[in-house]
Amino acid sequence: PWGFVSDSLFLNQALLVQTELEPMQLLDKCQYIESQLGRIRTLSNVQEKCYLSRTMDIDIIFYNSEIIETNRLQVPHPRMHLRNFVLRPLCDIIPDFVHPVFGKTVNQLFQQCDDASDTIKEPTIPLS
Ligand code: ATP
Ligand code: CA
Ligand code: CA
Repeated sequence: PWGFVSDSLFLNQALLVQTELEPMQLLDKCQYIESQLGRIRTLSNVQEKCYLSRTMDIDIIFYNSEIIETNRLQVPHPRMHLRNFVLRPLCDIIPDFVHPVFGKTVNQLFQQCDDASDTIKEPTIPLS
């Protein structure tokens, strides 16, 4: 867990995908998949911006090198550079990709990130 305390462990994964979907369509699709996987969004959760355990959370970290600033979608994800659990798996797949706002590679962002939370590369407990 990041930003709150939880008894649960979290499994994080970064995917690089090729898509014909526009950014907003991609967000719709991600949220559709979240809901299909049983995620329920409560209004208070969204409004108070409090973090809770959830069955699935799919965020868009980058969309090519586009910069998107709308109410519903900000890309690059505005907190990605603060999170080891995002940066570490991203380093495995696109270490040299340059963040279009900060002008630093994913690898540099990971090296400079002062997130104290630990991540383990392989789960050491059964996930079932
Ligand atoms: P965080 O954004 O800090 O990781 P979260 O993933 O828990 O928090 P959610 O409750 O899943 O936040 O999402 C809240 C809203 O964030 C979504 O309804 C969506 O409109 C918006 N959002 C803005 N930028 C993005 C993005 N890059 N990827 C996914 N959702 C985004
Ligand atoms: Ca998230
Ligand atoms: Ca999310």
